[in-house]
Order: sequence, then structure tokens, then C-alpha cells
Amino acid sequence: MHRFIVVGGGAGGLELATRLGDRYGETRAKRGRPTASVTLVDRNPTHIWKPLLHEVAAGSMDPFTQELEYAAQARWHGFEFQQGELVGIDRAARRITLGVVNDEDGAELLPERVLDYDTLVLAIGSTTHFFGVPGAAENSIALDTVGQAERFRKKLIAACMRAEHQAPEPVTRDHEGKEEPRVQVAIVGAGATGVELSAELRNTAQVLSAYGLHKLDPSHDVGIVLIESGPRILPALPERVSSATTELLEKLGVRILSGERVTEVAPGVVRTASGKAVRADLTVWAAGIKAPQILSELDGLTVNRLGQLIVRRTLQTELDDNVFALGDCAACEWPGNERGVPPRAQAAHQEASFLFRSMGMRLEGRPLPEFTYRDFGSLVSLGHFSAVGNLMGGLIGGSMLIEGLFARFMYMSLYRLHIAALHGYARMVLDTVAHWLRRTTLPRVKLH
Ligand SMILES: Cc1cc2nc3c(=O)[nH]c(=O)nc-3n(C[C@H](O)[C@H](O)[C@H](O)COP(=O)(O)OP(=O)(O)OC[C@H]3O[C@@H](n4cnc5c(N)ncnc54)[C@H](O)[C@@H]3O)c2cc1C
Repeated sequence: MHRFIVVGGGAGGLELATRLGDRYGETRAKRGRPTASVTLVDRNPTHIWKPLLHEVAAGSMDPFTQELEYAAQARWHGFEFQQGELVGIDRAARRITLGVVNDEDGAELLPERVLDYDTLVLAIGSTTHFFGVPGAAENSIALDTVGQAERFRKKLIAACMRAEHQAPEPVTRDHEGKEEPRVQVAIVGAGATGVELSAELRNTAQVLSAYGLHKLDPSHDVGIVLIESGPRILPALPERVSSATTELLEKLGVRILSGERVTEVAPGVVRTASGKAVRADLTVWAAGIKAPQILSELDGLTVNRLGQLIVRRTLQTELDDNVFALGDCAACEWPGNERGVPPRAQAAHQEASFLFRSMGMRLEGRPLPEFTYRDFGSLVSLGHFSAVGNLMGGLIGGSMLIEGLFARFMYMSLYRLHIAALHGYARMVLDTVAHWLRRTTLPRVKLH
């Protein structure tokens, strides 16, 4: 039997393993003999869709209600799950090594293991890029994992509670002479993640106050400042999306500092190249991504300057026909576009669907097709009732700006499509209804 191994059960990898397991593995629905073995490897036991992490950080999403157990998904969809971190590849022997897994107390839970493959798909995503800015890694929080998002949320609540009970300090003023808020969150990087977080946090400050967790005035005492080195926010999106978003953020009271390159993050302060010192009780770093370090250390596979594996348009790595890569960890050409395929959930999803089809051809020994990314536009969520974005489509022959509730609905449907890819449409509908019902008995923001 052909042995597929998918490493990384994120937006792309989990969809691919699920579909391969459904097609080739042994499932309860289809009792016939499996025609290939499919193994998914992830360092964590559970999956959460990464674009939800800013909502987790703001407390508007409880991660424990959205997590999916890999072991259960494997049982339902005919694949095997192995928990462990990829630490090495022996390409000649077609073998990967997974590191030891320890429990919370540091005791060994699973030993180092070796797994053999015929086809290996690497889908291990990306991590935050601090660009070597002094103090950034030590003094700011990144949003790569549920643990980091939860840590930020708890620190924010603690900062608000502390500020309420501390004797008011003499009023401090920012570089423009404006009175500074009692608690200030600085977000470095005004790409989609930074922008979405800033809007979500506005809502959080209000809800925390409504539930009595602090008695600060949420719009006056809790400040959010978004710092961007480029001339405008959302630099990767069309200018009109950026200006519509700027207007909405300003209405929400988010302060935007564009054209300000951060040169240092120290405890309590973010410094910029123009000499500004922005007071920050909490700093979030959302200024860029790079691929995990391990990819640069693997048995001769080639990487670009961000450490992403360079893949051909078949998504095979440059040097090895048996090793594929998808999602944020892969650098794939996008014909007609200077940049490669962007690091987005949309791209990871398309690549997973593409690889699912091309794996069938590989098993039949047919030549592999080439991947072409189709940009359907980008949507940026601005809290509970709004989103902004551009929809691109063959139908309208260009790009269309969308805003408000409709945009929000489209944004939410992206996650619903991911759920449908994992569980099918019937379960996605049930999950959506269950989610709405659950929300009626929960506060709008996680309080502890
Ligand atoms: C806060 C936030 C908001 C975002 N919002 C959007 C959005 O609105 N729209 C959009 O299109 N994109 C968005 N993105 C980007 C999107 O999340 C990524 O592009 C997408 O998740 C990439 O999918 P992936 O499968 O490549 O990797 P991921 O989804 O990151 O999955 C990688 C998986 O690999 C596992 N892993 C990592 N290293 C190892 C290892 N060594 N061994 C084993 N397993 C490993 C991880 O545990 C994880 O499960 C957002 C990202 C963030 C952080």
C-alpha cells in the first residue's frame, strides 16, 4: 500500500489528510479494503483554524469550543494520527523522525519515532517574524498558537483590573500632547491580523466593562494603537479597502501610526525610527511571518529567504519528487504576479484540494498537473457586525469593495467552508446552529 504522510494538521494539512483518508483509508461508512495508508502528524493533539486566533486573543472566541481532536477526526475519516514534532527527514530512506513528546510536567509521553513514507506532504505553516528588532521577541506577544492568544487575553484583563485599582497616575501625554489612556495596547503591523485584532479589542474593552470586570471608561481609558511601517494600513490589499478600513477604525477610536518603523520594543514602550516612544502596557507583534526554522535544516531541501520550501507548480519540492509542500511553509510561483502564492488560509485550502486530486494521478502513475492560485479577494473582519474587503471574480471581471454585515457574513462563511471540508455540509450546518445556541448562554467575551 502507498504510504502518505501529511505533516501539519492546520488549515491545509488537516483538510488534505481528511480527504485522502476518506478516499483511500478504511472508514466506518466505507468498510472496503483501504487502498493507501494515510498518516497525519502534528505537534499538538488538537486543531484550531488559525484565522480565529485574533478572536481568541480578544476573548470573543472560546478556543475550547472550536478545537477539533485529531484522534477523533482520524477515526472518523480513515487515517492515522501521530502526535509529535517533525525533527528530521532522511530523503534517501524516505523516512521522517518525530521528536519525543513530553507531558505538562516534562515527563516523557511518547518516545522519538521514525515513520516511513512514499509521499510526504509538509504543511507546517509559519511563525512570527520579528526581523531581529531588539526586544521584540522578548517583550511582545505573537499570535501563532492558542497558548499565546490566551496569554494575551489574560494579560489584557489583568491590565484593566490592575489599572482600575491603582491610584490614578498623573496624566501622561503622548507625542502629540494628547492625554494617554490608563491601559494601552500597541499592535505592531497593520496587516489583516493587526487590523482585525485592533477592531476586536475595542469590543472586548466595552464588554469587559459591561460585565463589571473593570470600571474604566472603555473608549477613553483603554487605548489601542496600530503601528505600521508602510504608508498605509493593509499594505497588501487595494488602496480603497485600506482607506475604508482606516475610516472605520478611526470611528472605533483606534489610533493609527503609519509610516513608523519599529526599532525597539522595551518593557512598557515601543520605539520607532522617527524617535517616537509609544507607551504600551501590552504589545502584540503582527508584523510578518517566516517558515519554521526546521525546514532550513532538513536534508538538502531548498528554502527562500523566509525559510519557505521552494516548490514547483506541482507543489513538489525542487529537489525531491516524493516531498510536497503546501500552505504558509511553501513558496510557490503565482504566474502573472510578482509575488508568489500568498500565505493565506484561502491558498492553503486551494492547495490541499489541488493535492488531493493530484495524489490520485500520482497513484495511477500519470503526470501531475500544475497548481494555479485563484484569488477570490480578501476580507478583513472589523468586529462583530462589520467587515471590509474586496471580492474578485470572473463574474464581475475585477475587484469589488464590500463592507458591513454582508462582508461580515462572507467572512464568517470562510470558516464554515473549512468546517464543511472537514466534516461535510450536514455537520457544518449542525455545528453552526450549535454554535449560535451555545452563544445565547455565554457572555460575549470570555471573562476568565
Ligand atoms: C491571527 C491570524 C488571523 C488570520 N486571518 C486570516 C484570514 O482572515 N484569512 C486568511 O486567508 N488567512 C488568515 N490568516 C493566515 C492563515 O491562518 C494561514 O495562512 C493558514 O493557517 C496557513 O495554513 P497552513 O495549513 O499552511 O498552516 P497552519 O494552519 O498554520 O497549520 C500548521 C500546522 O502545523 C503544525 N506544526 C508546526 N510545526 C510543526 C512541526 N515541526 N511538526 C509537526 N507539526 C507542526 C501546527 O501545530 C499546525 O497545526 C491569519 C493568521 C493569523 C495568525
